[in-house]
Amino acid sequence: MKCAQHVELDAVGTCNSCGRGLCSDCAAVFTPPLCGACASAHNKGIAKTLWVQLFLMLGLFITALILLLGKTPWLDAVGFACVAAFFPSGWRFLGRYFAPSGGYFSPLARWMSLAVQAFAAACIGVVVGPIFLFRAWREFRVVRGTKDLLDKS
Ligand SMILES: [Zn+2]
Ligand SMILES: [Zn+2]
Repeated sequence: MKCAQHVELDAVGTCNSCGRGLCSDCAAVFTPPLCGACASAHNKGIAKTLWVQLFLMLGLFITALILLLGKTPWLDAVGFACVAAFFPSGWRFLGRYFAPSGGYFSPLARWMSLAVQAFAAACIGVVVGPIFLFRAWREFRVVRGTKDLLDKS
């Protein structure tokens, strides 16, 4: 098999995603080895998911701020807006531990579980929200780094 990018070179490995041949240079660019097309598609997927989550956070923050400003001291309003913005992060984090549907003996148990999850999500979101922001920022840097690598090769 030959490298998909450099047809004159023998492939030493294959793309982890599509299985096309990669020469030693191409195989060394990404770990696990990916061809250029798959790497950029993969990055676009990651970036899109992150953007959706960031916009959701921003939307919740602004909505809470608009609802609360003027009614509470502005510091409280900003605090509540942060809790609202980080809520989805907490909810996602807790999703691992709460059964999303079924498994409950009665509808009441299910609502109770949802209420507990919502309350816990608000508390935990304040912790995991900023961690999510940090990881998103790091992920964007990785995406940009691979884009530079792709432009160079
Ligand atoms: Zn590929
Ligand atoms: Zn190559």
